Amino acid sequence: MPKIRVTKRFHFEMAHTLYEYDGLCRNIHGHSYILEVTLIGEPLNKPKHPKDGMVMDFGLIKELVKTQIVSRFDHALIVNSLIPEKQQELLKQTNERFLVVDFQPTSENMVIYIAEIIQQHLPSGVNLFSVRLYETATSFAEWFASDN
Ligand SMILES: [Zn+2]
Repeated sequence: MPKIRVTKRFHFEMAHTLYEYDGLCRNIHGHSYILEVTLIGEPLNKPKHPKDGMVMDFGLIKELVKTQIVSRFDHALIVNSLIPEKQQELLKQTNERFLVVDFQPTSENMVIYIAEIIQQHLPSGVNLFSVRLYETATSFAEWFASDN
């Protein structure tokens, strides 16, 4: 069977701050992110099987990405662990969804982080082809398996 790519798009709202950045993004601010996850595999060729003709059921892709990614990031504040601990404590007290990561939370680093999580949860025979994350309508970062 030929290999086919399937893509599902997601939306989430997230706030971040870029530590020591030389521009406005060092202030806490939010984006309406659009995430596109593309998987690649051979469509199942088993007549009468409920998943016949599918690389991965779109419903299952949705469940996986919602559980592993969207529920973590939606309406969360994400910060670099390099920000002072006192400031982290304060932010933690006022934000239910507060994520400290050991990288600068740019779109570029976010796609690496997202790709690693998704890859850990894919069924056998299905691979991650790419992850695209729009930070604004005109800016996005992409991770491609073929580049890495
Ligand atoms: Zn930003």
